[in-house]
Amino acid sequence: MISYQFMEHGKPLQKVLHDTPRPKGTEVLVRVTRSGVCHSDLHIWDGYFDWGNGKKFYVKDRGCIPPFTLGHEPFGVVEAIGPQAKGVKIGQKRIVFPWIGCGKCPVCKEGLDNYCVSGSRFLGVNRPGAYASHVLIPHPKYLVDSAGIEDGFAATLACSGLTTYSAVAKLPDLGPKDWVAVLGCGGLGLICVSVLRAQGVKNIVACDIDPAKLEAAKKLGAKLALDTRTPDAAQKLQGLAMGQLAGAIDLVGMPATAGLALGALRKGGRYVLCGLFGGELVYPLPPIAQRGIGIVGSYVGNLQELKEVVALAKKKKLKATPVSTRPAGEVTQILEDLKAGKVLGRVVLAF
Ligand SMILES: [Zn+2]
Ligand SMILES: [Zn+2]
Repeated sequence: MISYQFMEHGKPLQKVLHDTPRPKGTEVLVRVTRSGVCHSDLHIWDGYFDWGNGKKFYVKDRGCIPPFTLGHEPFGVVEAIGPQAKGVKIGQKRIVFPWIGCGKCPVCKEGLDNYCVSGSRFLGVNRPGAYASHVLIPHPKYLVDSAGIEDGFAATLACSGLTTYSAVAKLPDLGPKDWVAVLGCGGLGLICVSVLRAQGVKNIVACDIDPAKLEAAKKLGAKLALDTRTPDAAQKLQGLAMGQLAGAIDLVGMPATAGLALGALRKGGRYVLCGLFGGELVYPLPPIAQRGIGIVGSYVGNLQELKEVVALAKKKKLKATPVSTRPAGEVTQILEDLKAGKVLGRVVLAF
């Protein structure tokens, strides 16, 4: 099998040939045909997350040690199955749920693998990922049928679709006059607009610093757009939402976007933080209490949620976001393009 691995953090990925694993027990071997490139891959490639004020969280401390294979949006064809793997057949096309927990802790037993408390096995995060011709999955239950969905778009549902679906589920109950802001219109922001529309939310303000991304968000159904480079962005956002900003989904996750959301939310509004750009939150405490603001973090999503977002796509309720498919060998350039903000929507590797 082929993997594209980084041997050192931040250095170009190298094509590595190695033995294709044979599935044992309940394991399933998937031949990857499409593999999404996510912004969070950049942080793992760099080797750390920025905790602000000079502090860093190093990915080696959670089990990601080079040489390492990134990739947590896998899509492919079942190539081999272990003797105890039931309910799956060779040749089936499947989305792979990458957020695999230990399967044994109380959180995993509740089906919340993505918040596993004792030894997660996340593909492309602390286990070999899908920038590779093959991935080995511990159990067929992590495979989701996506018949009728275009392969490249189907791949992106494993992270960008799922993450935003789970974030939208954390919004407060919305009244007809309430608004939701989507902060950051990269791959996640665009699909977030699609998910909101699929869930019946119409009052959406898309926020970004790139007019092309704002335009794409409007095409997918955002009613209004705000270029946040303006100095009084929080006031402008409040104005656009007519003082009724009930939710803000932050897919960037930097001090500026957090400040913008917290400053613009109405009383009782909720700030849902997904983005991992980095920095720290410094914000006056009394108004958070006085205004009844909710702050909630959201990390990817669980298997049931992936099935739900895939079902929306199958019913054609989820508008497909821009996906460009490029050869897997271009992966380092693709990561560079993503870092430079040059990617509209998602790039998906083809194997
Ligand atoms: Zn991701
Ligand atoms: Zn667990």
